[in-house]
Amino acid sequence: MMNYDVIIVGAGPGGIFAAYELSERRPDLKIAVFEAGHALHKRKCPIDGEKIKTCIGCKSCSIMSGFGGAGAFSDGKYNITNDFGGTLYEHLGKKQALDLMHYVDKINLRFGGEGTKLYSTAGSRFKTVCIQNDLHLLDASVRHLGTDINYIVLENLYNYLKDKVQFFFDTHVDTVSMKDGRYNITTGDNTYTCEKCIISVGRIGSKWMENVCRELNVPTKSNRVDIGVRVELPAAVFAHLTDELYESKIVYRTEKYGDRVRTFCMNPKGSVVNENTNGIITVNGHSYEDPEKQTDNTNFALLVAKHFSEPFKDSNGYGESIARLSNMLGGGVIVQRFGDLIRGRRSNANRIEESFVTPTLNATPGDLSLVLPKRILDGIIEMIYALDKVAPGTANEDTLLYGVEVKFYNMEVDVDRNLQTDYEGLYIIGDGSGITHSLSHASASGVHVARHICG
Ligand SMILES: Cc1cc2nc3c(=O)[nH]c(=O)nc-3n(C[C@H](O)[C@H](O)[C@H](O)COP(=O)(O)OP(=O)(O)OC[C@H]3O[C@@H](n4cnc5c(N)ncnc54)[C@H](O)[C@@H]3O)c2cc1C
Repeated sequence: MMNYDVIIVGAGPGGIFAAYELSERRPDLKIAVFEAGHALHKRKCPIDGEKIKTCIGCKSCSIMSGFGGAGAFSDGKYNITNDFGGTLYEHLGKKQALDLMHYVDKINLRFGGEGTKLYSTAGSRFKTVCIQNDLHLLDASVRHLGTDINYIVLENLYNYLKDKVQFFFDTHVDTVSMKDGRYNITTGDNTYTCEKCIISVGRIGSKWMENVCRELNVPTKSNRVDIGVRVELPAAVFAHLTDELYESKIVYRTEKYGDRVRTFCMNPKGSVVNENTNGIITVNGHSYEDPEKQTDNTNFALLVAKHFSEPFKDSNGYGESIARLSNMLGGGVIVQRFGDLIRGRRSNANRIEESFVTPTLNATPGDLSLVLPKRILDGIIEMIYALDKVAPGTANEDTLLYGVEVKFYNMEVDVDRNLQTDYEGLYIIGDGSGITHSLSHASASGVHVARHICG
């Protein structure tokens, strides 16, 4: 049995920043990080677009797991804002949450991100243009590292941490329990103990997290899932917005049902990718800072938030069922031209081939109206026409819609302002806590608990 002062479960941004801050402030502490996925240099998604075109369901998904977490091959967009990306501010207060996000930004710059651009909505004339068209642009500063620089920052952080912290890769933590005031962590046949335990297992660890909370009697609540599509269109259509803001988070309230539809994760000149969450294939996107790796297209998600009330509790199960339907019909992600969707016909290989927009993801041409509930689909169509007023060309026939995109929310864990559970020394942070949903918020939560532990 090995004993540590602090054990961190999960080496995503939350876990990494917790390890960083702990080792900076308390180099005397014995710290271990357990990560179910691979070390950074071993992470490689086998989809090459030629031999392997779609997700083959690797045992450990390199997009979602490993050093860097779900963020490693992400677009590296660090949104510095309380308006979206999580509700950390509800626990810490708005100022402290923002201060932590700025601190994370500084570290990212120090570890390889210097020279990357910080975009801001402050003073943007698009706010007015959006409001005039019944659209609402949310406030944020966005540091865009890009997939390539994000990787370099992670590589540098790992090289910095590896002599200060003991990393265990390809090591899934099976159980967490408490005995005699210490936490026992088991991985296969091995048991490790620690005084403080930080759990940062992200979205991929949501089911595991639920079990741990059930076993330890940590209260949770869950009632939200976001469902929608990823839109892909020529980069020129959104260039006036993306050149100035990089990412614009725009919210629209539909006329028909009064539902909120929002843009999410905008990737100028980016690529659409598969995402595998516990065997369910959904869609996501990213883009590179390096112009040579950029494409002619911009992609972003359009999502409708679905909140459930009693007696239904399994919002993620609802999202999963819809994603499963698209996997059943398309063998994975489905792609459809907007023009085909409006005409009520499926897209086929021919229509996609003849489209003026070349898809960046090899998805199965099909019919999203057979997958998405009517209310959600109606909201997305309304939003596309609303966006067409501020970015003409959005509602073009050839605009591609990939489905489905689902944002699963981890159930929200009951933690105090230090992100500590009722058990002293047991912290739950990052996306796994249900409190954060982004790189910057997850990273900030890691710094926050590390500071609390260091006192
Ligand atoms: C393709 C893609 C693009 C994205 N782009 C952006 C973006 O541009 N900007 C943004 O803000 N957000 C983005 N996100 C979301 C962002 O990556 C997450 O919000 C962020 O990574 C959350 O950090 P985390 O540390 O909480 O969890 P994660 O990054 O999910 O890390 C959790 C880690 O824990 C490990 N783990 C889980 N269970 C166990 C266990 N039982 N034992 C051991 N290890 C375990 C996992 O393998 C994983 O590596 C993107 C996500 C994806 C998938």
